[in-house]
Formats: sequence, C-alpha cells, structure tokens
Amino acid sequence: MKRRISAILTSLGLTLSLVSCGKTAESAEKTVKIAYLPITHSLAVLKEAQDLENQSGLKVELVKYGSWNELLDALNSGRVDGASVLIELAMKSKQEGIGIKAVALGHRDGNVIIVSNDIETAADLKGKTFAIPHRQSSHNILLNDALATAGLTTDDINVTELAPTEMPSALASGQIDGYCVAEPFGAMGVSLGAGKVLFSSEELWEDSLCCGLVLTDKFIDERPEDAKSFVEKYKEAGNSLDKETAKETAKKYLSQTDEVLDISLQWISYSNLDITEDTYNTLVEKVKEYGLSDTPPTYSDFVKNY
Ligand code: ZN
Repeated sequence: MKRRISAILTSLGLTLSLVSCGKTAESAEKTVKIAYLPITHSLAVLKEAQDLENQSGLKVELVKYGSWNELLDALNSGRVDGASVLIELAMKSKQEGIGIKAVALGHRDGNVIIVSNDIETAADLKGKTFAIPHRQSSHNILLNDALATAGLTTDDINVTELAPTEMPSALASGQIDGYCVAEPFGAMGVSLGAGKVLFSSEELWEDSLCCGLVLTDKFIDERPEDAKSFVEKYKEAGNSLDKETAKETAKKYLSQTDEVLDISLQWISYSNLDITEDTYNTLVEKVKEYGLSDTPPTYSDFVKNY
C-alpha cells in the first residue's frame, strides 16, 4: 500500500512538474519586448504594459533607452520585438532593409515649436540657431513647415542636432533660439520660463505623424496571434488615455513634475492610433520635399493594419 501511494505521489509530482514546466515555457513565449524612450510620446505602450501586468496572457516587457540611436540599434539588430519610435527613423531603417512594420501611431498631435521670448514670428527666426533631435524626425519637418509660413527655409537659419534633455537649458542659456522635440521637453522650456510656444503642430500640419509603434517582421511572422492581440490592446490603451490617465501613467514611468506634465499633456492625444493611407502619404510628401529621404517606403510596404 505504502509503495502504491508513493508511486502515485511520484507520478503526481512528475505530472505537476511537467505542468509547471509547460507553464514557464508558455509565459516566456507570451512576452513581447518593446523598446521605448521615457517621453510622453510613448505613453500608449507604457499604459498597455501596465494594463496587461495583472491580466493573464500576453505581457509587455518594456526596455528603456536613453537615446534614439541606442533604441534603433536594439530594434535594427533584433534585440527587441518592437519599439515606440520616431516614424521617420523607422522608415529609414525599413529603407535600409531592416524587416519592420509600422502597426500604429504613437500619438496624435503633441509637438510644439518653442522659441525664446524675444521671437514674435517665424520671420524672426532668420539667422537664428534652432535645435532638433534628429534629421529624421517630424520635428525637422515641423521646423521646415514653420519657416515656410514666412517664406524661409533651413538655409536661412542654423539647424543643430541636440539631445532632447539638453534643449530647455540650451534655450535658457541663449545657446539656441528655439527647438522642436518630443515631449515633455517643450513643456519643460515653457515651465522654466526659457521660451514660449510659437506654433503647435496642428497649426502647421493637420493630422501630423510623429512616433509610430513598430514590430519586427520576425515577431509578426512567428507569432501572428500575439502580434494581433498586442496591437489591439495597444489601441485600447491609447483610447483609455484621457488627460488624467495619461498623467497618472506619465508619473509612474517618467520623472517629470506635475507642472511640466500639465502643460505638455494639453497638446497631445492618444485615441484613434490607426495609420491611415492619406496621413502617411502626406508624411511621405514632406519627407521628400524637405530632403529627409528621396525614396521613403510606400504605405503598402511599411504599414500593417490589424
Ligand atoms: Zn512623437
């Protein structure tokens, strides 16, 4: 009898350990690794990670980076399954043969042209120094759009690339006369009293695109169901980000003051994050017109809708 019980227990133990092995393998497989920068433009994916934390099934493993170049390196070398990234940088990677697709927007609107307090109009920017985070960015496009309102081009000013975190203090010290960058660094300049908003993005470019959520082709092809579920939950998370929820999420993941977040979050929205063909084609035209790229990827090559 003892022997039988022991045999049953052994077999039960074996079964239990097999079940738990299976569970471990399954949960490891059910993670999607997403690269992000700690900015308000990536709040939709941060909210999704938070939403899925306590639910069964797919989890989002967030991987934080300090700069776009580091993040791109991780995305392009396949160390992550996807990223919330400046869409022009992702387009450039795609153009260079990296297997990625844009599956949603990061946000809608949400950028501003910040200038020093003595600048009143776009024409006053002539001969001045203006900072953008990267040549491949909507911030560069918005600068070109702002200058065009006064008949100017980037040939009429000095354009410099600066790290986003350095821009508010560079404006305060007079090293630069204006900047356009992912948020909340524009709001930080306003909060410091270093500058003011000359244009918001929607005044220059209606339905502007800026950040995109991208996934690697490898992830999309090998785990189609997870990819679909991830994108659906992402859009739901975006739709749930009203001002209050956005602020709560930002306070959890970004080290920013209430004042900076209150200023910044008035400019942005996270609902309806589909990438439409019309808005993408407008972006493509601007990318070509302002010399960011001559051959950006087409909508059908680059955008995947779920
Ligand atoms: Zn953005």
